[in-house]
Amino acid sequence: MNAQEGAVGAMERIAKKIAPHSLSPNLKDYDKESRAFSWEGARGQLDGLPDGSLNIAYEAVDRHLLKGRADKVAIRWLSKSGSRKDITYGQLAEDTDRFARLLTNLGLNPGDRVFSMLGRVPELYIAALGTLKAGMVFSPLFSAFGPEPVKTRLIIGEAACLITSAPLYRRKIASIRNELPKLEHVLIIDPGEDELPEGLHGLPALLSQTEADFQTVATDPEDMALLHFTSGTTGTPKGAVHVHAAVIAHHVTGQYALDLHEDDIYWCTADPGWVTGMSYGIIAPLTNATTMIVNEAEFDVDQWYDVLEKERVSVWYTAPTAIRMLMKAGKERLEGRDLSHLRFMSSVGEPLNPEAVVWSDEAFGMPFHDNWWQTETGGIMIANYASMDVKPGSMGKPLPGIEAAIVDNRNGNVTVLEEPNEIGELALRTGWPSIMRAYLNNPEKFEKCFVGEWYLTGDLAVQDEDGYFWFVGRADDVIKSAGHLIGPFEVESSLIEHPGVAEAGVIGIPDERMGEVVKAYVTLNSGFQWSEELRKELIGFARKRLGPAVAPREIEVRNTLPKTRSGKIMRRLLKARELGLPEGDISTLESDES
Ligand code: AMP
Repeated sequence: MNAQEGAVGAMERIAKKIAPHSLSPNLKDYDKESRAFSWEGARGQLDGLPDGSLNIAYEAVDRHLLKGRADKVAIRWLSKSGSRKDITYGQLAEDTDRFARLLTNLGLNPGDRVFSMLGRVPELYIAALGTLKAGMVFSPLFSAFGPEPVKTRLIIGEAACLITSAPLYRRKIASIRNELPKLEHVLIIDPGEDELPEGLHGLPALLSQTEADFQTVATDPEDMALLHFTSGTTGTPKGAVHVHAAVIAHHVTGQYALDLHEDDIYWCTADPGWVTGMSYGIIAPLTNATTMIVNEAEFDVDQWYDVLEKERVSVWYTAPTAIRMLMKAGKERLEGRDLSHLRFMSSVGEPLNPEAVVWSDEAFGMPFHDNWWQTETGGIMIANYASMDVKPGSMGKPLPGIEAAIVDNRNGNVTVLEEPNEIGELALRTGWPSIMRAYLNNPEKFEKCFVGEWYLTGDLAVQDEDGYFWFVGRADDVIKSAGHLIGPFEVESSLIEHPGVAEAGVIGIPDERMGEVVKAYVTLNSGFQWSEELRKELIGFARKRLGPAVAPREIEVRNTLPKTRSGKIMRRLLKARELGLPEGDISTLESDES
């Protein structure tokens, strides 16, 4: 059995659904568009700056003013306390000009690194775009990081400036400040009445003395623009370097994979501390001139449904972990709601279980469209498109302009596996504009990602006879049992088809006879109690679907599974804890119970 058979099993494909009131999809004919596509052509959709310069913030903000969009709402911010603030493209241009001027007045120069550690507040969005306008490099950190992960990232990234809040500064920075000699300026968004200690600036006062006149720096397309940290299994986090040219990919993938149209009200639920929240929670929606929703609050089923309904969201981009929580809460929570303006839903970050796709089709009348990419790829690489049937459990097909293949990379040589449904490593032919240009100060790790013209993703996958890609697992997470390669995703997907199971995390544990055997950890839906009977029932249930070679031998219950802050189940941590091994880099771990 391979991932595809396991995933599709009883499920048919979901025929493309384009609601009668919907706009015609941007990507109407996948094959035709893929043949006609060129990255030069895509760049032509952007305005650029003189002499071949390109700046992300110019494309996201300034150019809209010349196109009569100054009064259009760019960001609709929903605060935790329930208030609402609209920022038009005109206002955003002014606020980001002022912020860029302020950085320059502080003596910072193009290329300097500006970090943020903020919740989803307007200052974060203004700082990101203002920094890019100033030709400086922006690096967003999750506000929930503790002092150690913050320190590591500020040091690796050689932060010259940090924008944060007074409580976050007190809790996470004050104690490490003297270990950060390169950090010259800290801007506090809410300084209060008391005088600030040396080296801290109150942002509101500084801004009130700063003119909103700034000419966006004419950056070279290859100038560094963004720094996103990604943590591996061991060692320190790697800083993936992205350049201004990435905006070309953000812009077109926003059109193709998210089907963004100018009149959309678009909501990306990701935090900008994660690459999705930057590429698709700031850049792509703005270059495409949509109105984007920023929701400051954390996940809550009814609040999320309120946002969808009251803000008349038309395109929604979220993650499997949230979708599974919505499933757990039940379809009834949607009863009586008017979501008629919603026309496209997509998901990223983790494998989207086929069960979740089918559920969403029943609950919302349209399926979630899964798409796949990584911090390193800078933008969406494989997706299910509005104009294509969805095969539940599949990641879809490569974006126009992207060549993806399943390869065998055993001896440092890459061989493309031509036969459909063979498991191999997912590889992408280099040459798209948003691929990382380096891991900061870590050339060895960077070079290891490439063989010849191929970028190796570290994910195992298969491609079926129709050209759809199916995720099998991270190469590190794949289980080798009695000569079979077992992807944790197919086992997890089959377990969550059981009505009692909300989430599942699957690992391999050493076994003398089999090499490894499959072990699963599950969380339960409300109304279900863990018992020996339920454990046996789940094992039987999985065996029926997957066969005895693939089904878990052991199942344990947990109240929660360890996850990253971006919502990915941390299988390697489940494994390390099971086997009593070192936990490695856990800086991205969301606090968990175990
Ligand atoms: P990150 O760089 O933190 O965004 O993580 C990228 C990794 O997340 C990928 O290499 C995959 O292992 C996983 N991932 C992201 N999107 C998907 C998806 N749609 N299906 C399966 N895995 C995914």
